[in-house]
Amino acid sequence: MKLTELKGIGPKKAEKFERLGLFTAEDVIHAFPREYEDRRNIKKISELVPEETAMVRGTIRALKKGRYTGRGKRTLRLLIEDGSGTMEVLFFNAGYMERGLSSKAGRERTYWFFGKVSENAGYPVMLHPSMGRVEEDGGDDRILPVYPLTSGLTQNDRRKAAAGALAVREKGRDPLPEEVRKRNELCDLDFALENIHFPASDKHMRVAKYRLIYEELLMFSLGLGLMKNLFSQTLSNFVLDPAPYEKELIYGLPYELTQDQKDTIRDICRDMTSERRMNRLVQGDVGSGKTVVSAAAIYKVIRNGYQAALMAPTEILAQQHYETFKALFEGTGIRVRLLTSGLPAAKRREALEGLAEGETDLVIGTHAIFGKNVKYKSLALVVTDEQHRFGVSQREALSKKGKEPHILVMTATPIPRTLALVMYGDMDISIIRDKPAGRKEIRTRVCPAEKRKTAYDFLHKELEKGRQAYIVAPLIGSSDALQVRSAEEIYEETKKTLAPFRTELIHGRMSPAEKDRIMTAFKNGEISALVSTVVIEVGINVPNATVMLIENAERFGLAQMHQLRGRVGRGEEQSYCILVLEGDTEVAQQRAQVMEESGDGFVIAEKDLQLRGTGEFFGLRQHGVPEMRIADIYRHSKVLKRTGPEAEALLTEDPLLQLPKNEEIRDRIFEMYGDLDPGL
Ligand code: ADP
Ligand code: MG
Repeated sequence: MKLTELKGIGPKKAEKFERLGLFTAEDVIHAFPREYEDRRNIKKISELVPEETAMVRGTIRALKKGRYTGRGKRTLRLLIEDGSGTMEVLFFNAGYMERGLSSKAGRERTYWFFGKVSENAGYPVMLHPSMGRVEEDGGDDRILPVYPLTSGLTQNDRRKAAAGALAVREKGRDPLPEEVRKRNELCDLDFALENIHFPASDKHMRVAKYRLIYEELLMFSLGLGLMKNLFSQTLSNFVLDPAPYEKELIYGLPYELTQDQKDTIRDICRDMTSERRMNRLVQGDVGSGKTVVSAAAIYKVIRNGYQAALMAPTEILAQQHYETFKALFEGTGIRVRLLTSGLPAAKRREALEGLAEGETDLVIGTHAIFGKNVKYKSLALVVTDEQHRFGVSQREALSKKGKEPHILVMTATPIPRTLALVMYGDMDISIIRDKPAGRKEIRTRVCPAEKRKTAYDFLHKELEKGRQAYIVAPLIGSSDALQVRSAEEIYEETKKTLAPFRTELIHGRMSPAEKDRIMTAFKNGEISALVSTVVIEVGINVPNATVMLIENAERFGLAQMHQLRGRVGRGEEQSYCILVLEGDTEVAQQRAQVMEESGDGFVIAEKDLQLRGTGEFFGLRQHGVPEMRIADIYRHSKVLKRTGPEAEALLTEDPLLQLPKNEEIRDRIFEMYGDLDPGL
């Protein structure tokens, strides 16, 4: 149901909701409160204690307007009495309230005030309390939900929308079967939704919350189990010849492989020559050299007379791999093809034919390589680079392609072991920890915002040496609400300050073709400095780029900064990462310090998890953890454990969740896991 169909929400308000990602009544219901206001703590003014949050009812005895500030705002002071004593209430910028309150009628009314109590010269004070007329809503002395807001949207709007959406919601349905609820002492869905928004008591709220967390984690467990069943470790259809063909490729390399690279290649070859199908994850920090590892695997498969496919998350990465592999396989007779959705029709047809007839040995591309009409003659290995494992829909699509090929997933997002165990229960894992020899450490320095100019001067010097730089900002356009320099603003500035060097802007709202054009120009050295949001493609390789400057670094997560930093330090030259910090909150300082001290993605991931919790842990989605509404796999790990046996029982009875009674569960899992690709 559309939001505008709810009472009190017109197109204007609906737009505000949309800004929060809420489009339907269902969305509103599933956007759970961030916290609650307990307005039941009704106090006499004489009983108020500083620091507590309380509800007071009283009348206005005096009203005093402050002076206007430069911005046309002024304070409003109210003296409130309730028979037991007087309290001061202070609003900043409350011009819109003045008239109603100072009218005669206004003076006679009883108001309620809810807020945190402080003290001024012995008197109780409330700063910016919530307030209302008692005759209108009885003082609202309940537990009320608190939601995230955006400008033009008040708590009241959100509460009304939630109440309205709950009222029209179809009741009596529940994705959790009754026996599951009984066994685990869970309330039903109607109760849970009602009480997560408008709890009748603390206990109601806890019961509701537990049920919703349990449900979400059960879906999570079921999703993992379903994917495992869809992609089960069947017997291999492509048991490869154990002859070490891959050595031919390795001998030809201009460098020595690191021990971890060698070990990983050995793991992969062991898998592919065994009776079982391979399903392996290779985890290696940015720059650890995963590409050549995958090349060894691909080479072996092709020498066995089969085909291989390499999937990248973006066109530009696919293009880059195409070039790398053509060079790596030069003179071997291996036929490599690029297949992206941007390909002209004729070329595309040619590529499809090549695959179907087995004339192409290796295809490199985006999702296009698993498109509906793509047929393979003998696909034995699928490699995905820098991305998630497959979502459920992709697994279904893939299992229909040919004869269940070997799977190799490569990722640069380091994931703490504790999480990896839960998430990759169905995969074998190889880790590449050491860096290729001779790599220079990237020098990382924190720069307070006041000294920004020094940072840019430094960057300028690097450009003068013929190097290139990335400048990353948290937002595209400017925002009044946040103290943030936007990519657009920085671009306008650097266009001038870095002249004559060419600066360009790139961000996620551009068309793929446009992004492509700019990235290619940057790769070719036609652009010196690239201002961007975090869209800089993971895995992009521009060895001549030596500076990564991150603006408003306090707004980035650790793992995210580490990923960004990995864009530089790819060539011979010394590279630098500069973190410009606005403000000096403790967490931001801590993070920046971790960045200065460590270049190890695993150490950083562990710290990130400690500092931020899984909620915002960068890259979780890439790892196949769907976005959660209320649960946190790390914080609620005990509940997660409890869902394990329940998920197993359900899947034993119905391995692919196809029974009619499980339909709702299946729908929900597809919604969560259907397509995990964050780039889509
Ligand atoms: P990532 O793991 O981030 O995908 P790449 O595979 O792109 O890293 O490798 C980064 C660079 O390191 C490439 O230019 C590659 O040729 C080079 N490289 C890979 N392995 C080694 C090695 N053992 N010694 C030296 N250079 C290497
Ligand atoms: Mg890579």
